[in-house]
Amino acid sequence: MIVNLISDTVTKPSDGMLEAMFAAQVGDDVFKEDLSVNTLEIEVAELFGMEAALFFPSGTMANQTAIKLHTQPGEQLICDHYAHVYNYEGGGVSFNSGVSCRLIEGDRGRITATQIADCINPPDFYHSPKTSLVCLENTTNKGGGAVYDFNEIITIRELCNKHDLALHLDGARLWNALEVTNEKPKAYGKIFDTISLCLSKGLGCPVGSILLGSKKHINEAIRIRKIFGGGMRQAGYLAAAGSYAIKNHRVELNEDHRKAKEIEAVLLRCDYVEKVEPVSTNIVIFSLISGNSELNFIDNLNQKGIRLIALGKGKLRIVTHRDYTQTQHDYVLTTLTKMY
Ligand SMILES: *Cc1c(COP(=O)(O)O)cnc(C)c1O
Repeated sequence: MIVNLISDTVTKPSDGMLEAMFAAQVGDDVFKEDLSVNTLEIEVAELFGMEAALFFPSGTMANQTAIKLHTQPGEQLICDHYAHVYNYEGGGVSFNSGVSCRLIEGDRGRITATQIADCINPPDFYHSPKTSLVCLENTTNKGGGAVYDFNEIITIRELCNKHDLALHLDGARLWNALEVTNEKPKAYGKIFDTISLCLSKGLGCPVGSILLGSKKHINEAIRIRKIFGGGMRQAGYLAAAGSYAIKNHRVELNEDHRKAKEIEAVLLRCDYVEKVEPVSTNIVIFSLISGNSELNFIDNLNQKGIRLIALGKGKLRIVTHRDYTQTQHDYVLTTLTKMY
């Protein structure tokens, strides 16, 4: 048995999704003539109560486009030091937008309005970069799937209004947060200037992300996406997968969350485990008691057919997903219990 828990991006399309992809009505999306892409964009914009949406080949490109929309070269954005936009987008913030990041050491990737307020450079102090954007991430990736308290987000919005800052949400896994909190997508649509969403994570699509925003922002985003090389042609085959996933795969995220919780419970009972970060969604981050090398641990599990990754600084990561079956789950729980 091979059990791949390195990420929730390793899934293959479900049978229903494949059928939906075969049935897609496609055209040339660079000319905005792909019916399935247009439909997906309208559906997601309506779901979040935002004016417009744009389909992207990756979440990275959607985030990078948003940053480009909200900033000018030389300016600064504020984010957590764990942020995907800072750590895992290849330095795109500086490469694409000429922008620097002011980093906050938040709580597992989550930052507060008070922390942000301390990082806003005074606009008339021309010696320092102009602060123009705040980026939040929900759920957090490097923070182990932690979920924001919505009240904090509201306070952050008020702060951004006061200081004339744009507010972007990296919502690669916002779908997971919405399932555990029962919050409504429209509540998020009201708060943020732009939101990126991944279809290729827990929702199980092969490819695809969405950027949401005002009509004005999304019209400009079409140009930036083109500049980044992200104009796609018959992309409707991929968009149809997205529409299908949003209708059919969202509730099943709760299964991923249940399994992650059960892995957490087992790890907490293993005496080779030093610490497990509290699990809220589908990511489990844990560390081993000193003396146990995490590379050996990964190797041992690999030999038993179970794959996970190291995050550095002694941390290990397991991500549950829709192709991780109950049978595989039972095997993982037993194997973890019997490791040493
Ligand atoms: C996966 C992810 C993205 C986008 O990644 P792509 O692989 O480019 O689609 C963005 N932000 C977070 C937090 C992620 O986990």
